[in-house]
Amino acid sequence: MKQTFGNLRLRPSEREGKLIKICEKKLHAPVRSFRILKKSLDARDKADIHWVYTVECSDEEEREQEPRYEQVKRQPRVYVAGTGPAGLFCAVRLLAHGIRPILLERGRPVEERVRDVGKFMADGVLDPSSNVQFGEGGAGTFSDGKLNTQTNSPLNRDVFRTFVRFGAPAEIAYLNKPHIGSDRLREVVANIRRYILQEGGQVRFSSCLTDVEVKDGKLSAVFVNGVREEADELVLAVGHSARDTFEMLLARGFEIGQKPFAVGVRIEHLQSAVGKAQYGSGYLALPPADYKLVSHAGERAAFTFCMCPGGVVIPAASEEGGVVTNGMSNYARDERNANSALIAQVGPEDFGSEHPLAGVAFQRKLERAAFTAAGGKYFAPVQLVGDFLAGKESYYFGEVRPSYARGTSFAPLESYLPPVVVSSLRAALPDMGRRLSGFDAYEAVLTGVESRTSSPVRILRGDDLQAAGKEGVYPCGEGCGYSGGITSSAADGIRIAERIAAKYL
Ligand SMILES: Cc1cc2nc3c(=O)[nH]c(=O)nc-3n(C[C@H](O)[C@H](O)[C@H](O)COP(=O)(O)OP(=O)(O)OC[C@H]3O[C@@H](n4cnc5c(N)ncnc54)[C@H](O)[C@@H]3O)c2cc1C
Repeated sequence: MKQTFGNLRLRPSEREGKLIKICEKKLHAPVRSFRILKKSLDARDKADIHWVYTVECSDEEEREQEPRYEQVKRQPRVYVAGTGPAGLFCAVRLLAHGIRPILLERGRPVEERVRDVGKFMADGVLDPSSNVQFGEGGAGTFSDGKLNTQTNSPLNRDVFRTFVRFGAPAEIAYLNKPHIGSDRLREVVANIRRYILQEGGQVRFSSCLTDVEVKDGKLSAVFVNGVREEADELVLAVGHSARDTFEMLLARGFEIGQKPFAVGVRIEHLQSAVGKAQYGSGYLALPPADYKLVSHAGERAAFTFCMCPGGVVIPAASEEGGVVTNGMSNYARDERNANSALIAQVGPEDFGSEHPLAGVAFQRKLERAAFTAAGGKYFAPVQLVGDFLAGKESYYFGEVRPSYARGTSFAPLESYLPPVVVSSLRAALPDMGRRLSGFDAYEAVLTGVESRTSSPVRILRGDDLQAAGKEGVYPCGEGCGYSGGITSSAADGIRIAERIAAKYL
């Protein structure tokens, strides 16, 4: 009989095999099937840090049934613009229903994209179509691959299962803070592409959706690099950096609203300092520590976001003449530094409420200011936390060296961030330092500018998930304002696929 046991504790030095013995004692029988449902680290008491498990086990053999999907009766021409998590997961679910989608991706395949990004870091020549934002796998390909989500969608389980099916570590299905790592994510993305091709879908690279044609309120065609192709359905999974696509959609009469987002900097510490602060002296036996902090000490709330343990700060620009930072870790999270975004929210009060794309213009202004502040060449402006708090310029680094591979120049935050964000971060740092020892250490490094935390727009869609007055067009994922992060974007892609499939069943 299948049974669930919760609150099973193991010390970090103990092996998981011990859980089976514990279950056998509880079942009074040999365990024939066993599955971890949840695993989290309890580090509240530094003297008694332990893993906590919920497991499901049975004294009978159990096999999980693969879900079956109803097949469509006719084959529509479904275009999916964008191969980020929203587009890829949408495509996989469409295929499950027998729909063979045509994926359009403005960037290049992940293998070539990795080389393009490496070249940009080395020589500072940006390819506006192949970079950390654009290309196969979308914005999250060069990420930590954290899969935490604020949403409690039942689709999250489908997302984890699909990730594992295409090569992600099995543990993501049960860890309370799952992460894949940029290195493994790239393999997963390539595996999904192979599957789509093998099942009869198309994945077209260097293929930008440049226009849409809507007749009598219904989609009739898409334009790919300017060439017209007839289409029945279009999924807009273009991500938050598709600024030219937003302009095109606005010109075509799509209803676009503003959306608040957050801006600031990346903050870097030594990973060992974060480990000691969170776990005490035993930190080396534990996974690289993370943190999440919020402060209301300033005029605006400030918070940390997208923390990358053992990771690097990466150049994430997609437009010439702008500097953008973000964070990335590999699966092992074994780099010297820890980094996270340290940001405060901005909205219409900062960029005006008249133009739907005012948030985009605001982001661009900050990115250009950061580029200029650091002297060009896509170097990033940096300042030490101690100097920032004292209102002084920085001249040399302490033990924390910035990991931003393209290069850095010292410049104060005031030279590229709005005063309200600067003052809010200045108030927040000591406050956060009281909660995480060393967070406001003098030598911690602030690298700017973190401007692409989420979409500055929302492309309005109705309850039927279609754009208002544009039947057959489905705004999807983060760029259109319906998700934040990898998991919820992938889930939104699945949601849209189900809606499209339902039309043809
Ligand atoms: C460096 C970095 C680290 C991150 N770390 C994490 C993390 O650890 N965890 C997490 O949950 N989230 C993370 N994020 C955020 C996460 O990547 C996004 O939330 C997620 O990728 C959004 O998915 P999406 O499919 O909606 O859009 P995207 O992933 O942005 O994909 C959009 C795709 O559309 C393509 N495209 C754009 N316009 C067009 C067009 N007109 N025609 C054809 N193709 C087009 C783009 O090239 C891109 O590939 C990170 C982001 C970055 C940049």
